[in-house]
Amino acid sequence: MSIPAPDYVRSIAPYQAGKPISELAREYGLDAQRIVKLASNENPFGMPESARAAIAAELAEVSRYPDSNGFELKAAISRHYGVDADWITLGNGSNDVLELAAHALLQPGTSAVYSQYSFAVYALATQETGARAIVVPARELGHDLDAMRASIATDTRIVFVANPNNPTGTWLPREAIAAFVASVPSDVVVVLDEAYDEYLDPAQRSDSIRQVSEHPNLVVCRTFSKAYGLAGLRVGFAVAQPELTDLMNRVRQPFNVSSIAQAAAIAALDDRAYLQRSYEANRAGLQRLQEAFARMGLEYVPSHGNFVLVRVGDAAGVYEALLRAGIIVRPVGNYGLPDWLRISVGLPEENEAFLRAFEKAMGRA
Ligand SMILES: *Cc1c(COP(=O)(O)O)cnc(C)c1O
Repeated sequence: MSIPAPDYVRSIAPYQAGKPISELAREYGLDAQRIVKLASNENPFGMPESARAAIAAELAEVSRYPDSNGFELKAAISRHYGVDADWITLGNGSNDVLELAAHALLQPGTSAVYSQYSFAVYALATQETGARAIVVPARELGHDLDAMRASIATDTRIVFVANPNNPTGTWLPREAIAAFVASVPSDVVVVLDEAYDEYLDPAQRSDSIRQVSEHPNLVVCRTFSKAYGLAGLRVGFAVAQPELTDLMNRVRQPFNVSSIAQAAAIAALDDRAYLQRSYEANRAGLQRLQEAFARMGLEYVPSHGNFVLVRVGDAAGVYEALLRAGIIVRPVGNYGLPDWLRISVGLPEENEAFLRAFEKAMGRA
């Protein structure tokens, strides 16, 4: 170890992504076409056709830098959600906007609060700034908002809240979130990560983008990676009042969202048919998986996302057996959940292929 680097960088445990299809095909000599990937909460339908057309049209322009300020995508988001464009920050995935908030607000000597079993990026974004992590024990695998509120220290600058949460699929109603945001000191920023909002029942969907106008210390993050089917393009956004938006913009790379991604996101944003089809297929798939787990007598967390966390016991063994059958799911030992697996909802035939292999792997075929 001769290169001097901060201890807080050396101690970071890098993000563990779902195994790529090409890697499994290589390692196990499988046909990539037949591999089923239910490991990264991607939209199983593939990208919307509307986005494909927008990408094709934009291709001719890739020798140019993208619009650094994302004028047209911000205008589309502004119309869609009824917020001013100068309240919007675009990100290279919402992962990027989570980090922009961290880089704008955290430094050594400050702290961030987040829940046990919450999205892994909160830990990474905190650690890479040298700030201290205050990890609050979960309640029934979900966020304990009262305990999170009580854990805020004088040096706390950010509280990360995922709703719904990944990898657990837990969710809190909007009244609980609103009461929490109102209870947090005004100099502590709440980063509310709503990556799965589009998968909620319409009556349960968040109104927090509207609440941003009441709270200068609230940032709401959304993504095009999940229900919008554009994970590979890396595009997400944050909504916050101008002061916070301006701070995040100062630490943003000038060209953080590619021109292709911007064009595709504009098309996907108003593709109601694609979104509705994705929502309905996900509900049916969730029900299918959860009923099967219940029938098998397995503990699972009723999910509000596009994935289910299920307790399988020997998760490493079951994961391996599924890989051999050409099915990739997500181990969550890195989250402190070593006997659980997270299964993303796939197409109906993918869910069936998973369940066949899973029952075999569990010795219950
Ligand atoms: C997938 C996910 C994200 C974001 O992913 P990006 O692809 O970076 O937009 C953010 N938060 C949670 C909780 C997620 O599960």
